[in-house]
Amino acid sequence: MATDYHKTHRVEEVKDLTPSAYIVRFQKNGMQFQAGQNLNLGLKGDTEKRDYSIYSPEQNEFLEVLIKEITTGLVSKKLRRLQEGDELEVDGPFGFFTISGESRKKNKFLFIASGSGIAPFHSLALSYPEMDYQLIHGIRNSDEAYERKHYANGKYISCVTADKSGDFHGRVTDYLKQNPPDKDTLCYLCGNVNMIYDAFDILKEQGLPSSNLFAEVYF
Ligand SMILES: Cc1cc2nc3c(=O)[nH]c(=O)nc-3n(C[C@H](O)[C@H](O)[C@H](O)COP(=O)(O)OP(=O)(O)OC[C@H]3O[C@@H](n4cnc5c(N)ncnc54)[C@H](O)[C@@H]3O)c2cc1C
Repeated sequence: MATDYHKTHRVEEVKDLTPSAYIVRFQKNGMQFQAGQNLNLGLKGDTEKRDYSIYSPEQNEFLEVLIKEITTGLVSKKLRRLQEGDELEVDGPFGFFTISGESRKKNKFLFIASGSGIAPFHSLALSYPEMDYQLIHGIRNSDEAYERKHYANGKYISCVTADKSGDFHGRVTDYLKQNPPDKDTLCYLCGNVNMIYDAFDILKEQGLPSSNLFAEVYF
């Protein structure tokens, strides 16, 4: 018989960021995790669960996930209707999209995100503010530059495609072509698989070894 390892966590807040993106904050219940890891979660009693990167930093006394509502989706729509006091079933943490203390001390990092793929980088940047990083975020409109004020000055660069309101006009891949990283940079990529493949090709062409490239694919 299958065993369900999901534990119950009470919802503390659901906060809208844009018409299609929101943050769910819920009890930590003593969970230890490393920034960059993800959770598997869903409504209590619902067999449909999905993976979500942890958005909040390690030191916070609560957990947060940032979710993009998919209009044709099953779970992301239901989670948006959660209210304070509702219960979530949560399993985890999972994953190895993390950065060791030793690596953080000696390396510089380029974080490359598309859309909600910014979530693990928010946790990494706020958990380890001393880290040497640059974050580039591919979005359609500037309102998707979720909580950009949380990143230290100059660390966050929006790459906006719909108009010229971003720090850069174009895709993250266009930004990379025009701004090749130093060859010893460690590049972490998260979000849509096509963006990740395209960025991998560009970075490898620019001379970065595959061993410097790390990816978390959302869809
Ligand atoms: C390791 C991991 C971490 C993840 N972390 C996050 C996260 O932090 N935040 C987040 O919003 N999602 C995250 N996802 C995606 C998430 O697990 C779900 O796939 C997403 O919420 C859609 O679920 P759904 O039930 O609403 O849609 P489904 O009914 O499962 O699927 C509907 C369709 O939506 C597509 N889809 C999934 N995600 C997106 C997206 N962001 N934009 C456009 N289309 C999409 C799927 O390919 C599918 O075709 C993560 C996925 C993985 C594997």
